[in-house]
Amino acid sequence: MPIQILPARLANQIAAGEVVERPASVVKELVENSLDAGATRIEVDIEKGGAKLIRIRDNGSGIAREELTLALSRHATSKVSTLEDLEQILSLGFRGEALASISSVSRLVLTSKPEEQAQAWQAMAEGREMEVKVQPASHPKGTTVEVADLFFNTPARRKFLRTEKTEFGHIDEVIRRIALSRFDISLTLHHNGKPVRQYRAGTLPSQQDKRLAAVCGPAFIGSALRLDSEHHGLRLWGWLAPPEAARAQADLQYTYVNGRMMRDKLLNHAVRQAYGDRLPADGNAAFVLYLELDAREVDVNVHPAKHEVRFHQARLVHDFIYQVLVQALAHRPAAQASRVAE
Ligand code: ADP
Ligand code: MG
Repeated sequence: MPIQILPARLANQIAAGEVVERPASVVKELVENSLDAGATRIEVDIEKGGAKLIRIRDNGSGIAREELTLALSRHATSKVSTLEDLEQILSLGFRGEALASISSVSRLVLTSKPEEQAQAWQAMAEGREMEVKVQPASHPKGTTVEVADLFFNTPARRKFLRTEKTEFGHIDEVIRRIALSRFDISLTLHHNGKPVRQYRAGTLPSQQDKRLAAVCGPAFIGSALRLDSEHHGLRLWGWLAPPEAARAQADLQYTYVNGRMMRDKLLNHAVRQAYGDRLPADGNAAFVLYLELDAREVDVNVHPAKHEVRFHQARLVHDFIYQVLVQALAHRPAAQASRVAE
């Protein structure tokens, strides 16, 4: 075969292989887009575990009619334009690939209206070259992305979809994790027309506790130690279950770096080490932790799905987390310690 440039759809499908693993990955990418667009209300509607339909509706900034085509194109983003931008990313997205990838493996319709535009417009990409068709639509300020029939044209991928219940479980987990990343936004999740999660916006401690209880269960919030420490530009805050609660505790490990949900090895290692021998072998560590640091100190461009980060000063970050947690576990208020012992 001679060397040739791949048709746009095929190139996007190849890229989709890295980020669009299952319906839950679509939900993650689209909700992150809504958050980047400054939305304060996000509604997620799912049908048949996401295989039939994923619909995300937000009240964010919207996309202007002239930019709809670009939004669906690969390597098109409004979030970075220089290498400096990439080195200090504050947005959740920056690769400019999600919409193009998802739309190459589903029937995706993007509908949007920025505040200042009188009319809403709707776009979809068709055919081998993914030509974008734009037409007028009706929509309030904000954006709706509808993803129908995920993987309909990539049978190998479709085959790997699990049962409706399993796929929905993964979506639910993504929503719970995102709910804990932003207490200031309201977030709802429906499955097959029925409400499943309804998180109301609110950043007061009582409202945070309420959301935490909804996501992690009342047992967690009843015993969790609250921590908040800062040192040389590093801040760690959140909640940590004391080791005594480990047995009664579901395995619950949520970590965020600059508001981005993570499954980071370094973070997990530091937490494990802080619990040390205190954790019974058959018990679970449970924590919701937020690490905040200068965006230039962390590289988020490590993994296409952005599950991992790289810290420039890994040792320093590790030791900071370890120290804060050891202190939190050692100096817990007597009232909390005795409540757990009862
Ligand atoms: P990225 O998020 O990496 O920029 P995406 O493919 O996810 O790439 O999105 C492409 C662009 O489309 C974004 O940079 C943004 O400008 C726009 N966009 C996507 N979703 C939304 C949304 N819900 N509201 C407003 N703009 C959006
Ligand atoms: Mg994105």
